[in-house]
Amino acid sequence: MSDSLLQITVEHGPVLPADVKASLEQIYDAVPTVTCACDRLGQCCELTDEEAADDWATMYPLYAVEYLNIVDHVRENFSKEEQKRLLSFDEERPLRCPFLTKVGGCSIHPVRPLACRTYGVISQEGVIETRDRLEGEVPAIWLRHFVKNESCTVCPHTEIEESEKVDDHAECMATFSYDRRLLDLEKSFDGLDDDRRDLLIKASGKYRISRWTWGGFNTLWRKPISWLKSNLVGILDRAALAE
Ligand code: SF4
Ligand code: SF4
Repeated sequence: MSDSLLQITVEHGPVLPADVKASLEQIYDAVPTVTCACDRLGQCCELTDEEAADDWATMYPLYAVEYLNIVDHVRENFSKEEQKRLLSFDEERPLRCPFLTKVGGCSIHPVRPLACRTYGVISQEGVIETRDRLEGEVPAIWLRHFVKNESCTVCPHTEIEESEKVDDHAECMATFSYDRRLLDLEKSFDGLDDDRRDLLIKASGKYRISRWTWGGFNTLWRKPISWLKSNLVGILDRAALAE
């Protein structure tokens, strides 16, 4: 997809309504902060060829409200050139997150999505302890998914800064409560205009896409309507991560 975009409109206000942003920040605030102490910062923000072949993705899942929050941040804080590069980025599953800096930092750290905030927070022992603590209280299938997902995001090089939040956070992860709250938020606002919504419904039968990637959402939100009319069906047919 090299067809280039788009009208970058920095002059108007934030896309995300203030109350939705405040609710999003409340969700983020429940996640304990970690300090990273590995010898190659950002290694978890890019994929090896083997990880890519194994269907891993960077900065995923990204919820629609998180996407809009990041768009606002990019518009408000980045140079015109960087805005153009980031807002026209349309690879669904890049090997390297487009926000990873040359020195391994995150260029959108204050607004990074839940998937990035929760990486490396729960230790392998914490995953097992949480499963045992919640066994019989929450559906077994949730716990199986929790153990499978969280075991893949354990990092031995992180140090927890807010240990008092860890148990509640682990419970939110095991019960998918963050995910439900994010999905509820976008039911109140998902920012898609009528033309794009119509095209999405015609192309997929879906009213909205709740979780995708940065490049995927850029395609739906920011490609010209004329381009989407010809290409959206094919894009969604090929998309592996649009939900
Ligand atoms: S999460 Fe782990 S691998 Fe990723 S930057 Fe932090 S310490 Fe390094
Ligand atoms: S958004 Fe930031 S933390 Fe998340 S994958 Fe990209 S560079 Fe890493």
